[in-house]
Amino acid sequence: MRPIRLLLICFGLCAAIPASAQTPGTLDPKPLPPLARPDDPKTPAKELFGRAVTPAPLAPRAIGSYARGCVAGAVALPVDGETWQVMRLSRNRNWGHPQLVALIERLARMTPQINGWPGLLIGDISQPRGGPMLTGHASHQIGLDADIWLTPMPERRLTRAEREQMSAVDMVRADRLDVDPANWTPAHTALIRAAAKQPQVARIFVNAAIKKALCREAGSDRDWLSKVRPMFGHNYHFHIRMACPRGEETCSDQDPPPAGDGCGAELERWFTPEMLFPKPGRPRPPMIMAALPPECRRVLAAP
Ligand SMILES: [Zn+2]
Repeated sequence: MRPIRLLLICFGLCAAIPASAQTPGTLDPKPLPPLARPDDPKTPAKELFGRAVTPAPLAPRAIGSYARGCVAGAVALPVDGETWQVMRLSRNRNWGHPQLVALIERLARMTPQINGWPGLLIGDISQPRGGPMLTGHASHQIGLDADIWLTPMPERRLTRAEREQMSAVDMVRADRLDVDPANWTPAHTALIRAAAKQPQVARIFVNAAIKKALCREAGSDRDWLSKVRPMFGHNYHFHIRMACPRGEETCSDQDPPPAGDGCGAELERWFTPEMLFPKPGRPRPPMIMAALPPECRRVLAAP
């Protein structure tokens, strides 16, 4: 049973690996051409949400589930903070639920004390109205997921060009069996531990080799490890998933992760040849609006 379930995860997520942190962006993003028939029910939802360049001016709400939904009342993480800088500005994906944006800012402010880094480099959060994306990511749809680079923020402001072209650093060895000691440091462990300990964080996704390193380095304080889940990719950045904000009935939480540190047999399963070097999944038919919660139509149609 288990290999089949993991294979299904791969069908959903392996396609999400290419447009990741290291994929360069452009300094001259072109608006997408208008759709000939946007009201056609067969129009992929990503074509519609991918064209929404401003948030829906409605009360903030996460609607649906992480890989099937949208977000109302999203706010932008400012591209520059004292302790963070947003990367790949051309993607316009620095939008999130206000509570996630507050969480990222809080974590960034704590970073110098956590691990001595000057701050964080922030990758994709969500599109202005969430929803499926034209490139990358099966999830990140409801404004509660964020990618954080495993590269420290430099002491200086990066230029626009650097934010598009600078590459994140691969933390994983070429054989994918462990982290690369040339790049992996105790500061990485400290940062992921601190993020996992935030009560609003439901899960953190990292490459299996990174989870292996965290298991080895955690010592006796291990409760936080249950939130840190192995995932394909995630060798240049880690992914924070916030729990549904309290009182938002339109938001569906995932089941909590299984108890325990997840460092035993569950982790070992990721180190078979098929899991380390998965074959690309069959592309899925794109999600249409009918597959999303009906309220996402209102989010899309809001002025
Ligand atoms: Zn992510």
